[in-house]
Amino acid sequence: MNIVIVGAGLMGRLVALDLHRKGHQITLLDRDTKQGKQSSAYAAAGLLTPLGEAFKAEPNIVAMGLAALQKWPALVASLDEPVFFQQQGALMVCHEQDKGDFLRQQRYLQQHYAEHPMHTLDRAGIEALEPELGRSFNLGLYLPEEGQIGNRRLLIALQKQLQRYGINWLEQSDVTSLCAKSGQVSYQRQEQQYSITADIIIDCRGVNAAETHNGLANSSLSTLRGVRGELFQLFAPEVNISRPIRLMHPRYQLYIAPKSKGFYVVGATEIESEDKGPMTVRSALELLSAAYSVHPGFAEAQIRQHVSALRPAFQDNQPKLIRNNKLIHVNGLFRHGFLIAPIIMEQTTALVEAMATSQISLATLPHNQFIQVQDCD
Ligand SMILES: Cc1cc2nc3c(=O)[nH]c(=O)nc-3n(C[C@H](O)[C@H](O)[C@H](O)COP(=O)(O)OP(=O)(O)OC[C@H]3O[C@@H](n4cnc5c(N)ncnc54)[C@H](O)[C@@H]3O)c2cc1C
Repeated sequence: MNIVIVGAGLMGRLVALDLHRKGHQITLLDRDTKQGKQSSAYAAAGLLTPLGEAFKAEPNIVAMGLAALQKWPALVASLDEPVFFQQQGALMVCHEQDKGDFLRQQRYLQQHYAEHPMHTLDRAGIEALEPELGRSFNLGLYLPEEGQIGNRRLLIALQKQLQRYGINWLEQSDVTSLCAKSGQVSYQRQEQQYSITADIIIDCRGVNAAETHNGLANSSLSTLRGVRGELFQLFAPEVNISRPIRLMHPRYQLYIAPKSKGFYVVGATEIESEDKGPMTVRSALELLSAAYSVHPGFAEAQIRQHVSALRPAFQDNQPKLIRNNKLIHVNGLFRHGFLIAPIIMEQTTALVEAMATSQISLATLPHNQFIQVQDCD
């Protein structure tokens, strides 16, 4: 099949990889350069923490995240370039005054996910796991199955792999219209207008798919919105934290994700706003003071980057696969893109394969227990 994928962020790259490996002919278009700095994927923290998300996410997202964690190691190993991936668990902690909320959330996890290991820790237990955090906290919950991925390294590794496969990747190509019936994709590149025709178009434009100009309006995407997220990248060589830390707080949930060589991501806000402007003072104050309360060593950290970006989300915060004739929309991954990506990738590939053989039995797709395709044919 001749397949055009629009958007080379997280899902565009992964779906391109999988479909190429299944023998399809892929053209990948993105308005950005191959570095993908405009994508939500570039801004992200790369946490793969399904149980940590369980208080805010629906059970199918948590289940998808747990299933995807089994798939990430093989996916990463199939790439020629190294990608940081670790599954050494995550630690949830709280300050003394927030103990009530912490215990309530701990009970929720114990009641709903009893089959997954979790260990309540006192100060000594925290110290044994993360020696530099023992002096800040008396109470923690260790979730040993949680993981983490190097999101930017993954984007690079996927780019190099797709290049090695010789995939036709048209960068700086701004798609201006998609036709579900004819399979025609129109795009603008260096002020010239072009169009190509595909057997199947896969729309992975993330939050930008909601754009309503240039004939791209689509009712199935009408509830797509951006949810603003902000985070810091700090360089703190004197801080030693080896796994993601989640600070449970009644107003905001902060996480600290260790990256390589003294770098830490501190995030992330979740604001119902489509403002794409730089980080606000309020967010900066909240994030940095919370980080400092976790480890005073962050006072000496260098702020290397402050990032703000929009997460693509539908009204119900659920990811969606929507098929309309020759067009498939893959969208709404919200704050869980990396967490659930391998499952969404496999479900998209299975849908394409079903369409390719003209046996579109949506009932038999492999991941229907997590996400079902919406058909608007
Ligand atoms: C601050 C922040 C922190 C996050 N942290 C995490 C985390 O820790 N764990 C996790 O699982 N998820 C996290 N996420 C969510 C995750 O990043 C997203 O769910 C995921 O990136 C969505 O993938 P996508 O492929 O749908 O969209 P994107 O990754 O945004 O890719 C969309 C691509 O489409 C391209 N595009 C858009 N419009 C056009 C057009 N008209 N023509 C051509 N190309 C176009 C864009 O340039 C972009 O490259 C975070 C997000 C944010 C913002």
